[in-house]
Amino acid sequence: MSDTHPQSLATRAIHGSTLKDAHGSPHTPVYNTTTFGFPSTADLLDVVDGRKAGSLYTRYGLNPSIFALEETLAGLENAEMAWAFCSGMAAETALFLTHGREGIVCIGDAYGGTLELLASQLPALGIPTHLILGSEIDRLDALLAGGARLVFFETPTNPTLELFDIPAICATAHAHGARVAVDNTFASPVNQRPLELGADFVVHSATKYLGGHSDLTAGTLMGSKELLLPVWNWRKNLGSMIAPETASLLARSLRTLVVRVREQNASAQAVAEAMLKHPAIARVYYPGLPDFPGHALATAQMHGYGGMLSIEVKGSGIDATRVADRLRLFALAPSLGGAESLVTQPCTTTHHGLTPEERARRGISDAMLRLSIGLEDPADLIADLDQALG
Ligand code: PLP
Repeated sequence: MSDTHPQSLATRAIHGSTLKDAHGSPHTPVYNTTTFGFPSTADLLDVVDGRKAGSLYTRYGLNPSIFALEETLAGLENAEMAWAFCSGMAAETALFLTHGREGIVCIGDAYGGTLELLASQLPALGIPTHLILGSEIDRLDALLAGGARLVFFETPTNPTLELFDIPAICATAHAHGARVAVDNTFASPVNQRPLELGADFVVHSATKYLGGHSDLTAGTLMGSKELLLPVWNWRKNLGSMIAPETASLLARSLRTLVVRVREQNASAQAVAEAMLKHPAIARVYYPGLPDFPGHALATAQMHGYGGMLSIEVKGSGIDATRVADRLRLFALAPSLGGAESLVTQPCTTTHHGLTPEERARRGISDAMLRLSIGLEDPADLIADLDQALG
């Protein structure tokens, strides 16, 4: 293979780290170490002062298990740099505190923890935040003219799978000198790479597709070196570093990311098509369905339609609760992206804290169920939904 041949995502997910251990292990071992020794003070100062790369102290991120993970993560989003964190929320908090202090605009629905941080905790620190719905996107220009410097959004969103045009939002933000951060958790880098579409930052709850097995909690922030270097001190002093064991487990999971997500895309498409024909279903929210409002945009900016979909049961919220409780293969659990399929009812979990009027304003019906499609045979998942809906 020539040195200039661009490696595919599947290859980079496996060979993304250039770190090699002395014993030829194909996978960087877990350096379960808090600190690292030096032969002399001069050598120690070389690392402390940044003249030489090297391991020093794990909370700083200077640990080989973390280096190996971050190199692989950066390769997946074609980022110059990636920082790993102990959770997705830790990554977002460090991003907002570093680059959002002059004002943040959040477009559309976002994860509940993100909304809490933006709606109450950051404003309590004096950081101006603006939460606008997708239908209010025409306010973006004025908010940026008013001084907001960071635009943040998820696409597709939770739970209505609303899509936002990444290049168009980047053009508006950049015209005002503002930066754009995309939470790419729902899509994963297999299905969407926002940095290639003009975004400045990508954030992930690595707890979801990147981890992929519902057995670890982690986060990552990716972008250019220039924009990520100032985040380093916040991560260090917030103490929000990923643990070496988790870093190693996550790097192990990344090796199968591409095959897992492609399979989940295909299964979600099959489940969505089956639900569309089901007499007990009023509506299906899935970007891979030709009649879905975001289908054309998804086709333009995504490489796959994802493993997440929502369905609206014919009837009330109580009817939807009964369906969720009757499912056997889908576990009733508030997460996504794992090998096992999960179901949540937004009005009893992620959006329980909102008033019914606010849920309605966001297009979230009480009869909605969100499905995270795992790696089971889709025919078994459809059969499970059939028996629960029956
Ligand atoms: N972003 C999205 C889209 C999420 O769904 C979540 C968690 O559910 C988060 C961020 C926060 O991630 P974590 O739970 O890893 O802190």
